[in-house]
Amino acid sequence: MLTSRVNLLKSRSYTEIDKLEKSGNSPLSNTSVKQSAKQAVWTLAEQFEGKLKGVSFELLSRGRKLADKLGVKLISVLIGDGVADADLEQLIKQGADRVLTVQDPKLAGFLCELYAEVLCGLIKEYEPAVLLAAATSSGRTLMPYTAIKVHTGLTADCTELDIEEGTGHLLQTRPAIGGNIMATIKTPDCRPQLATVRPKSSLPLPADPKRTGEITHIPFNTAVKGKGVELKGYRRSLDGSVNIEEADVIVAGGKGLKKGENFAMIRELAGSLGGAVGATRDAVDRAWISYPHQVGLSGKTVSPKVYIAAAISGAIQHLAGIKTSETIVSINNDPEAMLHKLADLSIVGDVFQVLPELQKRINKRNNH
Ligand SMILES: Cc1cc2nc3c(=O)[nH]c(=O)nc-3n(C[C@H](O)[C@H](O)[C@H](O)COP(=O)(O)OP(=O)(O)OC[C@H]3O[C@@H](n4cnc5c(N)ncnc54)[C@H](O)[C@@H]3O)c2cc1C
Repeated sequence: MLTSRVNLLKSRSYTEIDKLEKSGNSPLSNTSVKQSAKQAVWTLAEQFEGKLKGVSFELLSRGRKLADKLGVKLISVLIGDGVADADLEQLIKQGADRVLTVQDPKLAGFLCELYAEVLCGLIKEYEPAVLLAAATSSGRTLMPYTAIKVHTGLTADCTELDIEEGTGHLLQTRPAIGGNIMATIKTPDCRPQLATVRPKSSLPLPADPKRTGEITHIPFNTAVKGKGVELKGYRRSLDGSVNIEEADVIVAGGKGLKKGENFAMIRELAGSLGGAVGATRDAVDRAWISYPHQVGLSGKTVSPKVYIAAAISGAIQHLAGIKTSETIVSINNDPEAMLHKLADLSIVGDVFQVLPELQKRINKRNNH
């Protein structure tokens, strides 16, 4: 299976690595780099504006455990632009044995087709055993696309990963059927084994200043066009949203808020707590707030320290996105609301009385 897959990939028109190899300039011509990367565990680092994102380090703690069990190297792969070697070294200090990076101004912003072409080229060349990415917007877009291109499987949104005794297969565990069961999935026939991991579902390893490893820069072949897709630029969200996946505090509102204007209460409270604003799908569907705020099965998975749910019933699809929150506070006037059952702190009351009171007390505390 592996042989036929590799042959199939070889027939593809990916040119970057091939051209460099032929010219003798490729870092991949270095067989020691190639050997150590072969059958290794890879984690896909993420960057924004030249800074590594926290998920890059979370993935390394997952990958380290798998690589140690398999007795192979752990390699952090970064596609992007402007990330300094000093920052890449941090990936080594926090678990990676080696960093492979392709950087170019054209790769500064995430473009699925372009990133996939680069990533598929690396996979073709190095043949990793496992590739883990974060279940962020870009990870969730890039990985299915890549899986199709390299003819392998993908398990999305894993909460647990392990290695099967005897076979060495990756065991990929994730919630299934709306979070009612945990399913463990393996990919025995195809390589690499691809999985995405929920952000904030693991802690980064502490930095070990004694750890050393190599950083290999692979030149970006400008002939790689990403199927004619071009990034013209990006704008920050106009409603001031932050990345709720990274937030430590989230105040979220649901349909019980009655109208979009009432999200002002949620925004004010979130602002006072230095947090982000979340929402249910019902609130988003009513255009009270934009989709990037949606939490749940078809929205984002969040793991804040505190999740305050205001007038949210606690449908299974919403719960699927908040289960890993450290502390859940539910404000709902229905004592039977499902979210009250899961919450660490339940406030049974009218959201239009509870939220202003809470705000008043927090303002008082903040002013002291
Ligand atoms: C395939 C699929 C995917 C989905 N994905 C998602 C998803 O990603 N995220 C998501 O959230 N949903 C998702 N849903 C929808 C989900 O099933 C629910 O419909 C939704 O979560 C309900 O949102 P809600 O809690 O805002 O509304 P409701 O269920 O209507 O709950 C409103 C709550 O507000 C309370 N309330 C009303 N007035 C007040 C008041 N004055 N004070 C206090 N409390 C009050 C009520 O008691 C009630 O509990 C999905 C559904 C499907 C089928």
